[in-house]
Amino acid sequence: LRGVVAVDGPSGTGKSTTARGLAVRLGARYLDTGAMYRAVTLAVLRAGVPVDVAATVSDGHDDVAAVALGARLEVSTDPAEPRVRLDGEDVGAEIRGSEVTAAVSAVSALTAVRRHLVDEQRRIVRAALDDGTGIVVEGRDIGTVVVPDADLKIFLTASELVRAGRRDAENTAAGRETRPDTRADIARRDRLDSSRAASPLRPADDAVEVDTSTLDIDGVLARLQDLAED
Ligand code: C5P
Repeated sequence: LRGVVAVDGPSGTGKSTTARGLAVRLGARYLDTGAMYRAVTLAVLRAGVPVDVAATVSDGHDDVAAVALGARLEVSTDPAEPRVRLDGEDVGAEIRGSEVTAAVSAVSALTAVRRHLVDEQRRIVRAALDDGTGIVVEGRDIGTVVVPDADLKIFLTASELVRAGRRDAENTAAGRETRPDTRADIARRDRLDSSRAASPLRPADDAVEVDTSTLDIDGVLARLQDLAED
């Protein structure tokens, strides 16, 4: 792959696993933009700045935005070892914890935060293309905002029940506690991500929608690889 594949969709659709697997199969780089939103959210929490987790306002909260914009992020795009560092520290595990998960939608609704991270994401994509490598970029607004001229746009979906089951299995596999309210949490985050004013979660007009409810990872990967090599 020499161009850009955008993989968007809500959480629990198998987005990260398949986007990363696709990058490996295509010999491409891999960028997890959710990890960037999560890492700046961790910076905000560590700074002790209060976050109203139920709010998805697009402006105000200058204190939150200031910390997020000042956070020093380093993102590796090697699909074999995708890493996120915050101020030099590997925060890959901590950003998946429940505190960050609860607050990330509120932080990522802020226009100032999005503008900053979208600039950074475009820079990373350009660097890969300048190197002559393709890149698979996953998130919520890749096909609509970050790379609107991506060569292929995929929008993954799955039923809420299936997505909650996958999130529980992921947490168990990572040695984290499963939560009694996974399904409600997924529904809450979808609602916040889809209703915010700044770059709401939605498929691009030219995205190919793939329903992963009844497919396993290999099935999704095979489908995406077919589309990418078409
Ligand atoms: O994909 P992941 O679950 O790690 O994303 C965490 C959160 O980051 C999402 O719920 C969403 O609020 C935000 N996000 C975003 N735009 C992206 C990627 C993630 O707003 N491109």
